[in-house]
Amino acid sequence: MTPLFEQLHAIVGPKGFSTDPAEIAPHLEEWRSKYTGASPLLLKPATTQEVSAILALCHQTGTAVVPQGGNTGLVGAQIPFHNEILLSLARLNQIRVVDVHNSCLIAEAGVVLAAAQSLADDNSLLLAPSLASEGSAMIGGLISSNAGGVNVLRYGMMREQVLGLEVVLADGRILNTLRTLRKDNTGYDLKQLFIGAEGTLGIITAAALKLFPKPSERATAFVAVSNVNKATALLARLQKHTNGLLNAFELLARAGLELVLRHIPGSKDPFAVPSPWYVLCEASGIAGVEAAFQAGLESALEDGLADNIVIASSESQRAALWRLREAMSEAQKLEGPSLKHDISVPVSAAAAFIDKAIAAVAAHLPSARAVPFGHLGDGNLHFNFQMEQGADPQSYLAHWDDIQQIVHDIVQEFGGSFSAEHGVGVMKRAALKRYKSTVEVDLMRLLKQSLDPKAILNPGKLIPD
Ligand code: ZN
Repeated sequence: MTPLFEQLHAIVGPKGFSTDPAEIAPHLEEWRSKYTGASPLLLKPATTQEVSAILALCHQTGTAVVPQGGNTGLVGAQIPFHNEILLSLARLNQIRVVDVHNSCLIAEAGVVLAAAQSLADDNSLLLAPSLASEGSAMIGGLISSNAGGVNVLRYGMMREQVLGLEVVLADGRILNTLRTLRKDNTGYDLKQLFIGAEGTLGIITAAALKLFPKPSERATAFVAVSNVNKATALLARLQKHTNGLLNAFELLARAGLELVLRHIPGSKDPFAVPSPWYVLCEASGIAGVEAAFQAGLESALEDGLADNIVIASSESQRAALWRLREAMSEAQKLEGPSLKHDISVPVSAAAAFIDKAIAAVAAHLPSARAVPFGHLGDGNLHFNFQMEQGADPQSYLAHWDDIQQIVHDIVQEFGGSFSAEHGVGVMKRAALKRYKSTVEVDLMRLLKQSLDPKAILNPGKLIPD
C-alpha cells in the first residue's frame, strides 16, 4: 500500500476500504452501460467525521475524489473517469430524526429514497419525490443531482424539499446548515450551492427534508388523447377541476406503450383501440378529490379533449397503470439502443416543440423511431429516439452528438432547457458551454475555484473546460 492509502485505511478502517476489483467493478459502470470508469480504491466512510478526514487528506495531497450514492445517475457524474478515488456514501445510511411536529426528517446521504419514503408514510406523512430508481437512488445523490421524477408538478424538484444540509467542504471542513426552519432570511442561502452541484463543490453527508401531509384520497387515470395539444388542454382542465391537486401528469406515445407491451411481462394495453398518445394522471388530497378528478375527466371526454379513460378502481390496477409508465426506460433498453434527451420547454410549447424536433431528427436520421415520454405536467420530456430493429448499434449511437445538438438547438429556440432533471455530468458539459451565457459559465467557474481550489472534487464534471 502507498503511504496515502495507508493513511486513508487508518481513517475508515477495514470495513470502509476496498482495493478489490470485484467489489469496485459495479461502482464503475452506470446502469445503461453508457459510461465505464476506473478506480484503484473504494472508500466507504460510515460517519461525517470520516468523510471530513478523507477530504482534509485529499486536499492536502491534491488527490481527486468522485462521490457516489446509489449509482443511478444518467449523465456520468458519479463515475470516476480518471482513476480517482471513489467515495461511496452508502454506509452513511441513518435517518437521524423524524420530526412529525415540524413535518421534516433528517436523513444521511446514503439513505435509499424508498426507505425514507416508507418511514415518512409510517408517520402518516409524505416524502414527495418519487422516481423509477427510488429503490436504489440515495438522498445525497438525489440532492447533488437535484433529481426530479413524477411528483414535481405538485411538490417541486429535490431542491424544493431541502430545508438544510450538512456538507463536507473540499478541505475537510464541515458546513452544518441542518436547520429545519421554514423561514431563515439571513443572507446567502449557502445550501443552494451544493444542490445540483453534482459533488463538485462539496460532499453532502446529510439533509433535512420537508414532509407533507399524506393524502387521504388518491385517484389515478390512464387517458387516450389524439394529440399533445389536447393533452395540455386536459392538464389545464384537471388542474381547474381539482383546484391544483394533480400530483402527476405523464405523457406516453403509442410507440412507447408498444415497447412496454412487447418487453415487460404482464403489461396490458388498457384500451381495445390504439391511440397515438396517452396520459397517465393522478390527483391526491383530502376526501372529495377523487370525485372532482372524475368530473374533470368526464367533462374532458364530453368536450373531445380525451378519447378514452380508465380510472384505477383498486391499488393493483393503479400499480399496473403506473407500471406502463415506469417501465418505459427498461422497455427501451430491452428494445435496443436509443438516442436520449432530457429536455424541458414551457408546457404551452410542448406540442409545437415535439412536431418540430421530430421532423428535424427525421430529416437527419430517417430510421430513428421517436419515443417521447415524460413529465408533460412540468414541461419535461424524455425525448428519445430508438434504433430500428436489426440496425448496427455502434453506427446508430455515433449520431449521439449531432442528434443532441439538433434537438437542443430547437429546445433553445423554445426557451427550454437541455437538461431538465438529469443534470450535466460529463454528458452535457459541451451543451452547457453552448447554451449558457458567458456570465453564467464564468460565475460557475468562480464558485468552483473558491470552494475547491485544488480541483479534487469530481473533476471533469459539470463545468466545461
Ligand atoms: Zn424523468
